[in-house]
Amino acid sequence: MTAQLDVLVAGAGPTGLALAAQLRAYGVDFRIVDRSLDRVRESRALAIQPRTLEALAGFGVTDELVKRGNPAVQLRMHLPGRVVQMPLFSGELMDTPYPFLLFLSQAETESVLSERLGVGGVTVERGTELVRLEAQGAYVSCRLRRQRGTEETVSARYVVGCDGAHSTVRSEAGIGFQGYAYPQTFLLADLEVDGLEPGTAHTFMTAAGMLFFFPLGAPATWRMLAMRPRGAPDAEVTLGLMQEIVDRYTGEGLRLRDPVWMTDFRLHNRGAAHYRAGPFFLAGDAAHIHSPAGAQGMNTGIQDALNLGWKLALVCRGTAPEELLETYETERVPVGRSVLRFTDRAFTIATSRNPAIRLARTQLAPRIAPLALRATGLRRRVFRMVSELDIHYRSSSVSVGSRALGSGPRAGDRLPDLPRGLQARTAGVGYHLLLTGPPHLWPDQRLAPAIGGRGDLISIHRLGAESPWPGVTQGLVRPDGYLGYVARGAQLEGLGAYLDRWLPS
Ligand SMILES: Cc1cc2nc3c(=O)[nH]c(=O)nc-3n(C[C@H](O)[C@H](O)[C@H](O)COP(=O)(O)OP(=O)(O)OC[C@H]3O[C@@H](n4cnc5c(N)ncnc54)[C@H](O)[C@@H]3O)c2cc1C
Repeated sequence: MTAQLDVLVAGAGPTGLALAAQLRAYGVDFRIVDRSLDRVRESRALAIQPRTLEALAGFGVTDELVKRGNPAVQLRMHLPGRVVQMPLFSGELMDTPYPFLLFLSQAETESVLSERLGVGGVTVERGTELVRLEAQGAYVSCRLRRQRGTEETVSARYVVGCDGAHSTVRSEAGIGFQGYAYPQTFLLADLEVDGLEPGTAHTFMTAAGMLFFFPLGAPATWRMLAMRPRGAPDAEVTLGLMQEIVDRYTGEGLRLRDPVWMTDFRLHNRGAAHYRAGPFFLAGDAAHIHSPAGAQGMNTGIQDALNLGWKLALVCRGTAPEELLETYETERVPVGRSVLRFTDRAFTIATSRNPAIRLARTQLAPRIAPLALRATGLRRRVFRMVSELDIHYRSSSVSVGSRALGSGPRAGDRLPDLPRGLQARTAGVGYHLLLTGPPHLWPDQRLAPAIGGRGDLISIHRLGAESPWPGVTQGLVRPDGYLGYVARGAQLEGLGAYLDRWLPS
């Protein structure tokens, strides 16, 4: 007799770990397996966006991430004969507790998530590969193979592929992964650099391409990233090769030393045709891979997981309808596609050899970018997109009341941290109902018919005169921090109807 699980999570990279944290918080019966014996020790992703820090705060890991990381607020663009300094995010993100890009190695991010799971009693089953899936009625039969060769079959209602770019779940579910590989090869090194101003990100822009240094902090002070020179297509990645590139781009002022990790890699731009096929779901790199431009990959994966986890949990508990799961694909596919488009454009501008784009990159962009970014509206739009704070689900079937109400957020928007501390107050498990205006408007007996027997899943917050959103009096915050329902007025029938639809029992 095989054990029957609610959810099997394949892959314990950042996406799988974030999903496991949410499933754990809701008491779902799940297992998480990873074919590798150990966590990855090198850092691939090196930056965490403000929205990811917000989204992870509810699991008690964000403070630790911030403690271990390095918040960078400046970017220095080095041009022939001059340096232009630009602020990163600072001052534009007033509605988040984390108005900065946090540089932290992916290995550290995974370590913090794993430690948290360990405290919650979750064990990642390492050295355990998912090899085969077969839908059988209401369950999926999942074949697991251990490193020492033994096999086990488990039965799960749902299987989530957080198993990276070469996803087994994706291929077993027959989901296509369309896209292309970029022709360029990139070189990466985590190392020490003498002669570089600390605490800020640096980019050297030349006709040959761009060279980046990011303030990683640990296990080395800097992450260097550059395109492999055309004349050295197969040369071994050595400190000498990296130094040659740096000299070519910067003159001879910088000295590289003490590399911790050096590698080369190719990049792809690919997206899964669907994020769901029946009981199979895809999240993270299994669903989308792209260039690291804008530091979006790991962040998008973690947010996929946090969009999906609570939905799976409520459906498995029998408190939400199966239809809720459809909104994972309708909400996250557009986000994934927009990341693929944005990173492709940024990548093309950074690497193209087209003479017009080269001229724009080396001569025009450095002059125009600081001026353009002084225009507050444009700067705000760029920073909010990169920080992932402007992701919204306004057209989702689970967002109700999405027409603009006053100047406040709409249904489908993330809950801003205004007044300061609001996100922390609504970070606990379940939904949070925000009620504004005089507290006497909202006595328990008026709320009872709308809330019904769902009290354990809905926390009520009477904000009184604290509301910064004129016109909005009721806001129901979903477990992932987005507003599901907003309304004005004191009538509660709309709220009751919303809950009957999406949280019927
Ligand atoms: C050089 C580089 C720099 C990057 N920089 C950034 C950045 O600054 N910011 C950013 O957001 N992103 C960045 N990324 C992207 C980021 O590293 C990935 O998006 C992220 O690792 C995806 O996480 P994941 O959990 O979805 O997949 P992965 O990290 O690939 O994890 C998948 C896991 O699944 C396991 N697995 C695979 N198959 C199976 C199976 N059949 N059974 C069981 N387990 C399986 C693997 O062992 C692995 O542990 C960068 C990537 C690269 C290469």
